[in-house]
Amino acid sequence: MQIKNLQIKKLLEKYKEISLLGRVGALMGWDTEVNMPIKAASGRGATSALITSIIVDKWNDPDFKKTLETANKNKNLNSDEKSILRNLNRGASIYHKIPKELLVLESELTTKSFAAWNKARRENDFKSFAPYLEQLLELSRKIAKHLGYEKNAYDALLDLYEPGLTTEFCKSLFNNLVPELSKIAKNIKTTKKIKFKYPIERQKQDVKELISKFGYDFEAGRMDIAPHPFETTLGRFDVRITNRYQETSLEGLTGAMHEAGHAMYEQGVDTKFENTPLDNGVSLGIHESQSRFWENIVGRSMAFTKFIAPKIKVLKQKDLYQELNRVQPGLIRVDADEVTYNLHIALRFEIENDLINGNIKVSELTKIWNAKMKEYLGITPKTDSEGVLQDIHWSHNSFGYFPTYTLGNLYSAQWYFYMKKDIKNFESLVEKGNFEPMLAWLRKNIHQHGSVYWPSELVTKITGENLNPNYFLNYIKEKYIKD
Ligand code: MG
Repeated sequence: MQIKNLQIKKLLEKYKEISLLGRVGALMGWDTEVNMPIKAASGRGATSALITSIIVDKWNDPDFKKTLETANKNKNLNSDEKSILRNLNRGASIYHKIPKELLVLESELTTKSFAAWNKARRENDFKSFAPYLEQLLELSRKIAKHLGYEKNAYDALLDLYEPGLTTEFCKSLFNNLVPELSKIAKNIKTTKKIKFKYPIERQKQDVKELISKFGYDFEAGRMDIAPHPFETTLGRFDVRITNRYQETSLEGLTGAMHEAGHAMYEQGVDTKFENTPLDNGVSLGIHESQSRFWENIVGRSMAFTKFIAPKIKVLKQKDLYQELNRVQPGLIRVDADEVTYNLHIALRFEIENDLINGNIKVSELTKIWNAKMKEYLGITPKTDSEGVLQDIHWSHNSFGYFPTYTLGNLYSAQWYFYMKKDIKNFESLVEKGNFEPMLAWLRKNIHQHGSVYWPSELVTKITGENLNPNYFLNYIKEKYIKD
């Protein structure tokens, strides 16, 4: 990196502390989900809140703010310096605009809300979670107001997860996707589940070997068990993932591929960006495109089942393919197949937009959720636990997060289309278990850049066009519509 400007140098020194404190927070978060004894929860809440508050103070340090202001007036920065400044401004637009009390309140309220949601879901008791949801929505509306927006408060929240994403853009995407996907889903005959047993110890060994072959570096990460699989970055050379296993399911396999996809992105960022604002994946949408590429486009392909079936010896190749690709409208988002998955997201997007704008009340949520499930997927949840209470996101105050899942699915198909132009024998390579060319392509085009290019720039740089949902629709049609 070419950093000559003194202000940028100074900002980078100060930002390094923010970055390192963030790693401390991430390590505690990882420990909370993987190792922490249950009685430690409130103590851990206080520790995390302190780290958050120190980070907020660092962003608001008068000297840091002044230096940032001066740097913003400088018209002679080089491209590295401009990228750094842009990302610092993005961080500042959050930490400088939202009052510290609100950020601290958010960390307290989400800790309590998470516990309330967990209990409510377990006991199928939406009413007990409703008051928390009211408070979270109030908080999110306030946050949106502080962040600022032109047309819709929900835009401010969407932008937190995907720079530049708007309600209008999401609407046009879903208007395009929903009718097509619903039609395809309705025309697919669901196959019967094949019974099998896949011993957990074997699964752990198999997926470890598999993701190493993909390119996940176990010397710069580790894989543990947690109730919800996730990836977390504790440092440039400490990118961890978690997974979960069931003897009668393939979720250990698909989960490992998914999280390894996230992790390889982080492991592939150019080391020169370490502890700068450029050293992470650029957005949740681009991140999800990496996990979905390995989980779905590679991991649920015919060629891949030809490679993996003889290795894991749990199902015949044909049956394994069928099990990995069964299309069936279901109640639960995380269990959804490639065809119906985005319908779950469309429903959440519409509901969130209406909730944030006060067009629907929390007390009407069950009714509205169930009506939309019927409309989009043709089924109705019998309980709130399988309906409106199924996802963790709202308890984390993550309104605006869901649409990034759809963006990830769409981006992954667009990468795939262009990757195949460069890697002509894609399928035969996958069948042989040679994943190096794919990882190299992703490294070169996406991973190494970290947060240098924003999503819209990245997609035009790589593919010469904007995000285009037709790549995903064509991928789905080619795979699932048999003539
Ligand atoms: Mg993911």
